[in-house]
Amino acid sequence: MRVELLRGTSDPEELACRCARGDYSDRWVGSDRSFADVMASVDGETIEEKKQTLLEHLFRSGHFGPFEHPTATFAVEEVSRSCMAQLTRHRHASFDVQSLRYTELDGDPEELFCFPPSFTDEETVSREGVSTANMSAAEREGVADDLYEHSIDAYRRLLDAGVPKEDARMVLPLGTTVNLTFTMNARSLMHLLDMRLKADAQWEVRDLSKGVLRECKEWMPHTFERYEQQHPNKLAP
Ligand SMILES: Cc1cc2nc3c(=O)[nH]c(=O)nc-3n(C[C@H](O)[C@H](O)[C@H](O)COP(=O)(O)OP(=O)(O)OC[C@H]3O[C@@H](n4cnc5c(N)ncnc54)[C@H](O)[C@@H]3O)c2cc1C
Repeated sequence: MRVELLRGTSDPEELACRCARGDYSDRWVGSDRSFADVMASVDGETIEEKKQTLLEHLFRSGHFGPFEHPTATFAVEEVSRSCMAQLTRHRHASFDVQSLRYTELDGDPEELFCFPPSFTDEETVSREGVSTANMSAAEREGVADDLYEHSIDAYRRLLDAGVPKEDARMVLPLGTTVNLTFTMNARSLMHLLDMRLKADAQWEVRDLSKGVLRECKEWMPHTFERYEQQHPNKLAP
């Protein structure tokens, strides 16, 4: 899996602060007013300190609306169709998903399908806790290998017989990997992380969320470092 911030609103924290200041300012906060002027009455020696003060105030007071202005687009490579289904449950996002009507699977099953750690690790971890599988790692991996090889073989044979791609894909398993892009605003991203970094979320969507958080900390450092220290967990009622 790879997660990359493809593009984000530039100066996202300045934008969130500018919009938030507009709530309490007699004057407009348009671009002909300097950011320093917009932030003049906020505590802090430097503009970075002032931004931090205001963003902290927004978090503390539960004023999350200003975080809806900056948006970010992520490219995600090779997640299972199961993980994709979890991600696309989040409705305040825009998605583009690699289509199996227009692309064909071909190649090594190791690269086309997802192999969860519980197929090979000695101990398996799930929402029920840690346990030990009563089948060796080699046997478990063998079960997955057989199924994946069988299903890619069935898929290829149907394609070769002239079955359209959109129908041949029906024999593929949930572990088939997919690439996608998605766009969300910073508030919705925090909600996504609230839900999907939870210990009882599945390992794959948690890994994806860790990648999103890593990228968000580069993009909006004050906001997402603050978020990481203390998850609000109340961005949505
Ligand atoms: C550990 C875990 C297990 C899960 N298991 C299951 C499962 O077994 N089955 C299953 O179906 N789902 C499951 N889900 C998915 C979950 O129920 C949500 O659908 C998903 O996390 C999307 O989050 P959300 O509902 O907060 O909505 P989002 O789409 O992220 O929206 C954010 C917020 O906007 C508001 N909102 C959005 N749309 C509406 C609306 N139409 N009406 C009112 N308010 C709205 C809500 O306040 C919502 O919290 C699971 C999620 C997790 C994290």
